[in-house]
Formats: sequence, C-alpha cells, structure tokens
Amino acid sequence: MTKQKKFILQENQIPTQWYNIQADMPNKPLPPLNPANHQPLTAEDLSHVFAAECARQELDVTHQWIDIPEPVLEKYKYYRSTPLVRAYALEEALDTPAHIYFKNESVNPLGSHKINSALPQCYYCKEEGTTNVTTETGAGQWGAALSYAAKVFGLDAAVYQVKISMEQKPYRSSIMRTFGAAVTGSPSMSTRAGKNILTVDPTHPGSLGTAISEAVELATTTPHCKYTLGSVLSHVTLHQTIIGLEAEKQMEMAGEYPDMVIACFGGGSNFGGLAFPFLRHNILDGKNTEFIAAEPDSCPKLTRGVFQYDFGDEAGYTPLIPMFTLGHNFKPANIHAGGLRYHGAGSIVSQLIKDKMMHGVDIPQLESFQSGMLFARTEGIIPAPESCHAIAATIREAVRCKEAGEKKTILFNLSGHGLIDMTSYDRYINGDLQNYSLSDKEIRDNTSTLEQII
Ligand SMILES: *Cc1c(COP(=O)(O)O)cnc(C)c1O
Repeated sequence: MTKQKKFILQENQIPTQWYNIQADMPNKPLPPLNPANHQPLTAEDLSHVFAAECARQELDVTHQWIDIPEPVLEKYKYYRSTPLVRAYALEEALDTPAHIYFKNESVNPLGSHKINSALPQCYYCKEEGTTNVTTETGAGQWGAALSYAAKVFGLDAAVYQVKISMEQKPYRSSIMRTFGAAVTGSPSMSTRAGKNILTVDPTHPGSLGTAISEAVELATTTPHCKYTLGSVLSHVTLHQTIIGLEAEKQMEMAGEYPDMVIACFGGGSNFGGLAFPFLRHNILDGKNTEFIAAEPDSCPKLTRGVFQYDFGDEAGYTPLIPMFTLGHNFKPANIHAGGLRYHGAGSIVSQLIKDKMMHGVDIPQLESFQSGMLFARTEGIIPAPESCHAIAATIREAVRCKEAGEKKTILFNLSGHGLIDMTSYDRYINGDLQNYSLSDKEIRDNTSTLEQII
C-alpha cells in the first residue's frame, strides 16, 4: 500500500463555525478589567477600541459555536483547507516509532496562520462603518496579513512594526507597503507613548508591547479608526480554531487521534487555534490528549511567569488582562522568532494552564533553529523561526517515544514558513546566533512591580 501523506478537505467539508471554548471551560477566564477602577469591562467599553462584534466575541462565555460570516468563509476558501501532512521523512530521520503529523498553515500567500483572524476582524470593521484600521506587528506576519485583509475589505491600514524586527526582516515592511499599508517602526516619535518610551531609552529596540501602545493610541485618537490585534485576545484565538476544527476532520481521514498537540506560543492564537477543538474532547468526552505550548526560553511566561492581571502593552493603555506574564515592562532578548517576543499569554490559555489542562515548554534559540533545519532537510519546507519552536518540542517528544518504545501520535502546527526569514537562517548557519538565559532574579525584579490584584 502506498503511504498517504497529505489530507485535504473538500470545499463543502470546511467548517462553517468557529469553536468558542469559553463556553465549555470548567473555570471561566477572569474578566478583563478597567485599569482605573478595576471594574470588569463590558463589550460596550471594548468596542471603543475594537470592532463591536469582536468585543462581543471576546466576552462570550456561553455560545459554543459562532457562525463564520459568509464573506469571510468565501475568502477562507481561497486557501483552505490547509493540508494535514504525515511527516514520514522526519519520523525516519529521528528513527522514532511516533507518528508525526503537522497542520501546514504556511500555505497561503501571506505565509502564516495570521490571515485567519485578519479577514474576520477587517470584515467586522467594514460592516460597522469603520474606514481605518491600525495594528502592531512583530516579525511582520500579522501586519502583512492585516494589510492584505484591509485591502480586501476596502479599509486603510496603519501598522506599527517592532523596530528591531523591521531591521532584521526588511522584506515584511515591503510586503505591507505593497498591500497599501503605512508602516512605522516602533517605538516612534509619532505617538505620545512612543515619545515617552524613547525619552527613557533612546535605543529601545521595540517590542510587541511598545507597538501595541502606539497603535491603540492612534486608534483612540483617530475618528472611524479601530484597532486590531493579531494574538493574545480571546476573539483572535476563536478565529484561529478553524485550524483545529479542520485538523480534527483530517486526523479522522488519517484514521488517528493525537496523543499530543503542540504549537509554538507568542500570545497563544495558533496554539489555542489548534488545541481548543481537541481539548473540547478532553473536557466533554474523556479524551486524554496532552497539550504543549512551545515558548522561547528567553521569554518564558508560561513556565516561569506569574499569573496576575497585567497590561497587554508596554505603556499600559490596554485593559488589565488575567495572564501568565513576565510583566509588561519585560524586554525580551532579540531572538529571531519575533512573533514570540511577547511578555504575556492570552487569558483563556492562562486559565487552562493554571487548571493544569495544558502546559508550556521552553526552547533555547539554537535548539529551535537546529530543529527547523532538520525539518527543512526532511520535509522540504523552511519553517518560520517561530514554528521552529513547535518542531523542537515535537522532536523532543518523538525522541522520548523512541527511548521509551512508545508509539504516540503527535500533531503540531506549522504556523508559517520562513522564506522571509533567511537572514536569520544565514546567521544560524554562520554560527552567529546564541542562546539567552534569564536568571530567576531578572524575572522576579520585573514581575514584582506588578500590582497585586489577584
Ligand atoms: C505571530 C506568529 C506566531 C505567534 O503568535 P501566536 O498568537 O502565539 O500564534 C507564531 N508563528 C508565526 C508564524 C507567527 O506569525
């Protein structure tokens, strides 16, 4: 029998609803709070910054299933379903009895999973009469997806890109500008938040936290302008559940069910997007899948952070969100996985980790690239530096299976390709990259400044 390697859904099998795990969680996430008075925020409050529908989805803890609007579904069908692939060549190279599958979210023209949420966010903005959208971006995947989605729905986009990532990955700014977006490096002198940050530290390399501050400020000071976010928030992860819902059907086609589900972790949207539809079966049907979020060891909020209310951005403009965090002033090392340089985790995943229903694992930068290189050489796809963390965690588990003689089924998310990140690969190949470790004291010094709300 020839080995079947790739599983693809027919157009009529593509899910028409997203899955809202908040409805099924034994302990609901704590609500976002107004920083001024610590009162829970309403959808009405959030809709000053976000599209009203996104604000409603953010706080929805009752509806399990949320319809994907027809125009969004239409656009999804341009590139979905994405393939589920059995990584036979990687298995062989590792000589593991484990079965390794990956969901390939790199195969859309934008190159990452981010487009799955950019499309609905821009659609809702357009429906509600917004003309301009603003956002932050790290390595540029979210900015690229948002710039394209804004163009699709006829909106003007302004993107703040983390300055260090802009320098490391200049082509992503070119992509955003090609789609018509205005791109500014953050921290910049164009906002009050940016000026304040640069006054304290003129050489600040920028972080997702600084860029979010600037984008939120622009949205709140510009008429008919809404802010969009590429990760962290619950409605973003909701949109990303299209990944796991497809994977569920595709694993069934492959005749298997995952013992382990693994994805890299920045704010949690690709991890939650793949994991939640499977976690649903742990909660409701007694399945026993293990869920592993792979974060950089230089930004270890899941394994070494504290569970506390914190701001989503550096300047403290966002609501207070209950999260595993390293503190909003945390300055992540300049690792090349720009999408993972973020201080906090989304509130749903944070609650689920607190409840021990999923867990994090820390990956050093060199191990991540080494794993990405093996994946490239076996499967022929150059993974995004972010995705390399998921591959590294998968390889660790596959090697463990070999040592224990266990035949587990592992599913991981290939969140994006690395074709715009070749400078990073060059630097790895030339031996110019290093690991960054953090002392407990550094983490304590940063998290101890957080206000104790819980
Ligand atoms: C943005 C990004 C990530 C990290 O964001 P999450 O919200 O944690 O998924 C991971 N991989 C790629 C390719 C990205 O673009």
